[in-house]
Amino acid sequence: MDCLFCKMINREIEPDIVYEDDHVLAFNDINPQAPTHVLVIPKKHIATLNDIQEEDLALVGRLHRTAVKLAGQYGFAEEGYRVVMNCNENGGQTVFHIHLHLMGGRQFTWPAG
Ligand code: C5P
Repeated sequence: MDCLFCKMINREIEPDIVYEDDHVLAFNDINPQAPTHVLVIPKKHIATLNDIQEEDLALVGRLHRTAVKLAGQYGFAEEGYRVVMNCNENGGQTVFHIHLHLMGGRQFTWPAG
C-alpha cells in the first residue's frame, strides 16, 4: 500500500519513534509546529476520520490515551496542550492515514487558522 505512515509502521521509512505498542505508533513530526509535536497513529490503516468504524472505537480511544500519557511524560499535561486530527482537504489533511497531532510546550490560540 502506498501510504507513508504504513511505510513507517513497516520500517521501510524510519520515523523518530517516541512510543510503540501492538496497536499504536508515535513519532516526532518532521516539521514541528510546537516545541513538542508528536504524531500518534494506529497501526491499522484508516484513511480519514470519516472512515472510522464502530469496530475502531477502542483503537481511537487508545490513540487519545497514548497522547495523554505522552503529554504527562513531556510534563505539559497540567499546563495544557493541543490534540488535533485534520480531515480531508479543508481540514488540512495531507497524509491519508489518521493521526493525532499532539502539540505542547507553548500557548496555542483559538480559532485555529
Ligand atoms: O494533518 P496532516 O495530514 O497535514 O499532517 C501530516 C503531518 O505529517 C504533518 O505535520 C507533517 O509534517 C508530517 N510528516 C512527517 N513526516 C513525513 C511527512 C509528513 O512527520 N515524512
